[in-house]
Amino acid sequence: MNFKKRPSENKNLGGLSLKIVPLRQNSKTLNPNPITSAIFVCSSPQASKMPTHSLPEYAFIGRSNVGKSSLINMLTGQKKLALTSATPGKTQMINHFLINGSWYIVDLPGYGYAKTSKSQREVLGKLISDYLTQAQQITLLFLLIDIRLQPQAIDLEFIEQLGMMEVPFALIFTKADKVGPVAGQQQVEAYQNRLLEQWEELPPIFIVSSKKGTGREELINYISSINEQLKSV
Ligand code: GDP
Repeated sequence: MNFKKRPSENKNLGGLSLKIVPLRQNSKTLNPNPITSAIFVCSSPQASKMPTHSLPEYAFIGRSNVGKSSLINMLTGQKKLALTSATPGKTQMINHFLINGSWYIVDLPGYGYAKTSKSQREVLGKLISDYLTQAQQITLLFLLIDIRLQPQAIDLEFIEQLGMMEVPFALIFTKADKVGPVAGQQQVEAYQNRLLEQWEELPPIFIVSSKKGTGREELINYISSINEQLKSV
């Protein structure tokens, strides 16, 4: 899938064409491959300290409090695998979790937390961009968006960076239970329309509620179908 910025909007990018790596996935193929094991492997304070391996990595990122840890815990069926915002000294490292012994969930630091100092934000920003440029096995990055919010500049800028860096990504709208299905769909459509002002194609989109378990099967099927395709490459 090509994900290109409209030429007329290209002025800030020096004419760069934005693409995401094609995955050739078919998320509609039901491939129930439940998560049977999820093991915390390590927390890396620097991208250079990350584990080296040859398995697919699915990274999760979003603004602090977006519900990333809750989603990782919901997907893996473990209540405390990823540390939630309520955890004192919540880690600001890159966390690797090995899933079913065959792929990784990578929990990236949350960004945009109001109480973070400028210097901390810079360190986190570097950690995230180092991950995006140095991770050899990044298969897909899931960017989490709180379904209740209007499009935020910080997320839109991050999406633009992903396009420029050619990182394949999908969007996950979180906390769907807080708005209900109709309002949730409207929020997602409004977000899509906002993206279409600048982009020619939309990334894959998922709607989840960690509280209710909504979206779990779709996400796991999606990841499983990509893993299956990677095996046959
Ligand atoms: P993180 O900072 O992105 O890891 O966010 P957390 O997973 O720690 O969640 C932040 C807050 O949002 C916590 O109070 C969670 O209980 C709450 N939260 C997360 N996911 C959901 C959800 O799906 N529904 C509801 N109602 N609350 C959620």
